[in-house]
Amino acid sequence: MHIGEFQRLIDRMYSERDRRRGAAKTFLWFAEEVGELASAIAKKDEANKATEFADVFAWLVTLANVEGVDLEEAVKKFSEGCPGCGEMVCRCEEKMT
Ligand SMILES: [Mg+2]
Ligand SMILES: [Zn+2]
Repeated sequence: MHIGEFQRLIDRMYSERDRRRGAAKTFLWFAEEVGELASAIAKKDEANKATEFADVFAWLVTLANVEGVDLEEAVKKFSEGCPGCGEMVCRCEEKMT
């Protein structure tokens, strides 16, 4: 499934409710799922890890729908290279802080 197809699927499933809730509250749900993913990774919860990745991705997509962002279009810039250095294999200096 392409990102655009997934975004349209999520739009059909959830967007009416998501738009009523609004971006700020939808962002809280997204953040909660990010926390669940952090826990699954920290606890090495292999049974739930993939599910939590899916939840985070679905909530990110739903947030993009609420905000009117086409994610497939938005990520296209990576197909031309790293946005930082322009290389297909990133050569940017690593920044952790
Ligand atoms: Mg979850
Ligand atoms: Zn780079």
